[in-house]
Amino acid sequence: MEGTKRKTYEVIIIGGGPGGLTAGLYTSRARLSTLLIESALFGGQMTTTELIENYPGFPQGITGDELSRLMEEQAKRFGMETVTQEVVRVSLERDIKVVETHESTYRCEVLIISTGTEYRKLGIPGEKEFAGKGISYCATCDGAFFQDSRIVVVGGGDSALTEALFLTKFVKELTVIHRRDALRGTKIYQERAFANPKVKFLWNSIVQEIKGDSVVRSIVVKNVKTGEVKEFETDGAFLFVGMVPRTQFIKGVVQMDDGGYILTNEDCETNVKGIFAAGDCRKRLLRQIATAVGDGATAAFAAEKYLEGKE
Ligand SMILES: Cc1cc2nc3c(=O)[nH]c(=O)nc-3n(C[C@H](O)[C@H](O)[C@H](O)COP(=O)(O)OP(=O)(O)OC[C@H]3O[C@@H](n4cnc5c(N)ncnc54)[C@H](O)[C@@H]3O)c2cc1C
Repeated sequence: MEGTKRKTYEVIIIGGGPGGLTAGLYTSRARLSTLLIESALFGGQMTTTELIENYPGFPQGITGDELSRLMEEQAKRFGMETVTQEVVRVSLERDIKVVETHESTYRCEVLIISTGTEYRKLGIPGEKEFAGKGISYCATCDGAFFQDSRIVVVGGGDSALTEALFLTKFVKELTVIHRRDALRGTKIYQERAFANPKVKFLWNSIVQEIKGDSVVRSIVVKNVKTGEVKEFETDGAFLFVGMVPRTQFIKGVVQMDDGGYILTNEDCETNVKGIFAAGDCRKRLLRQIATAVGDGATAAFAAEKYLEGKE
């Protein structure tokens, strides 16, 4: 237990992905006292991405780990404090924002929320039971456990395709199961997936159940067009069926849409004065590293203007 901290920071940032790290770089360079609270790894979702090809400045691409390391190092250069804790609640004491973690309570004048998203769960029988025993949400983390095996990847978007392509390095055979008859992912990933002899497709299909003993052994799949239900043997299932925002801890404090994405104006300001949202956790058209970085810079600059206006 670290006890209750009485210091009031000018800025607290929740989340150390590209959005939060950029916000921290800008606020600490602006000489605002800044604390960044991250519950897991600095770099956020980048840490689970093998190769990033569409972040400008790296013509040959860059690994997610390396970009995370570089962004963390740069953000910390200008005196930003950091702690590794999970924020569980935010409340308001007039102008001051009170941020609670399991271990401590922090106070600030400006709060920047950059907590990103996490994988949506399918919510089917066996999913919880076999998590880590053949069910995975991260190819970079778990791919190597599936050497020479036969697996399925569920989903048809960018995450499903990039993760499937990465998994072909390890597995013997891989089937992408998608509920529609066409993929949603970026064309270049679709082309690569169709061209890869290890990747097969099962269209118009949803997974209804995951079965096994100590590990996954089979999945039950329903064809949504014909209604036919079949059981397939498999050594594992990687599930990529969309993302949900990690905003539960601030529910009721700031306005969100029905999906839990935080509503802001174009300067990343929420409906509460002094609370900003940046990156994937806010409602926006595109959720990428480049857009999270842009949001982080915008939120930090808007925060600086807000603090100047208070003086
Ligand atoms: C498999 C995969 C591949 C991708 N590939 C690409 C790509 O090639 N190019 C690209 O541009 N984008 C890619 N993306 C998307 C990109 O990674 C995200 O858009 C980007 O990381 C969003 O940044 P962010 O800072 O908003 O959130 P995140 O990166 O999600 O970071 C949020 C951080 O907040 C922390 N956090 C959450 N809740 C709390 C809490 N309560 N308390 C404390 N900390 C908390 C999390 O631990 C996390 O570190 C990919 C995503 C995935 C999943």
